[in-house]
Amino acid sequence: MAIIPVPQLSDNYAYLVVDEASGECGVVDCAEAGKVIAEVERRKLKLIAVLPTHYHFDHVGGNEDLVRAIPGLRVYGARGERGRIPAQTHPVDDGDTVEVGSLRGRVIGIPAHTNGHIAYHFPQLNAVFTGDTLFIAGCGRVFEGKAQTMVDSLAKLAALPDGTQVYCGHEYTEKNLRFALTLEPSNGALKSKHEWAQKMRAEGKYTIPSTIGEEKRINPFLRTDSAELRASLKKIDPSIGDDAVAIFAKARELKDRF
Ligand code: ZN
Ligand code: FE
Repeated sequence: MAIIPVPQLSDNYAYLVVDEASGECGVVDCAEAGKVIAEVERRKLKLIAVLPTHYHFDHVGGNEDLVRAIPGLRVYGARGERGRIPAQTHPVDDGDTVEVGSLRGRVIGIPAHTNGHIAYHFPQLNAVFTGDTLFIAGCGRVFEGKAQTMVDSLAKLAALPDGTQVYCGHEYTEKNLRFALTLEPSNGALKSKHEWAQKMRAEGKYTIPSTIGEEKRINPFLRTDSAELRASLKKIDPSIGDDAVAIFAKARELKDRF
């Protein structure tokens, strides 16, 4: 398997991105180096790169320990978050390429949760790592940008091919789906995803990945044009506008308190 989730802290995911030809791998978002190194050794891989999506401690807290254990590691991360990403060696911008053996990942700037937040898209793996911007059936809190910033960032991710697998930063799926159902109770895709997620979690299994196409069917933050979602929000607040950003902002505000 070319992408290996490594659970971190209480509900974070780090991911090993493996170039199977060479056995070289990178790690997306490392909070706990020990668990990542143990998985790398167990699978007899060679860790060569760290790919942080943003500077929050639960996504970079393991960086210093990683480079101490494995000198010479390349540590990527957004140029705009220089100084806040521990042990960073290779700052990157939107459109840049990262390398993990023969794998190539494209950096996509997706600000709003933090101003420098980035995603890594690996076309060869048909996968995108979305950190705390796009979750399964949800999105990250808008800490540093505005609602418009997050709407634009989510649109960049939604523009990827529908089959692209989405690997996000946290296991928030079940709660996200419960919230989504309050806005679209008759969305059949949402109902079945919720039943599936409950079953998976009861069995102690991960709910990642989903796909961009699936997110378009279930994620309220990508569904600002849904008639049912709009009607639900307008029932709660008749004063909200008709534009996508106003609809998004109201949904995000409700989710913050959910
Ligand atoms: Zn975060
Ligand atoms: Fe996080």
